[in-house]
Amino acid sequence: MSLKEFIVIRCPKCGKWTYAKTKQKSRFCSRCEKQFKIDPVKVIYAENHKQAQIMVKNRNEKEMFQSPLFRAKRQS
Ligand SMILES: [Zn+2]
Repeated sequence: MSLKEFIVIRCPKCGKWTYAKTKQKSRFCSRCEKQFKIDPVKVIYAENHKQAQIMVKNRNEKEMFQSPLFRAKRQS
């Protein structure tokens, strides 16, 4: 049974990926320190907490690699 309890969402202000519970209506962005409304059209559903964490990590790392500032932090 898949409940799709978590969502993965991108901050509309700075573009950082984060996750939230499906029922959450807004999310606080740790990068730009702004509260933003979760747009249900733009979310990606995750099966569980762990999958949501992995999806966020992968997306943020992918974008970090494109920035010269974070190139040094690259891991496997
Ligand atoms: Zn942000």
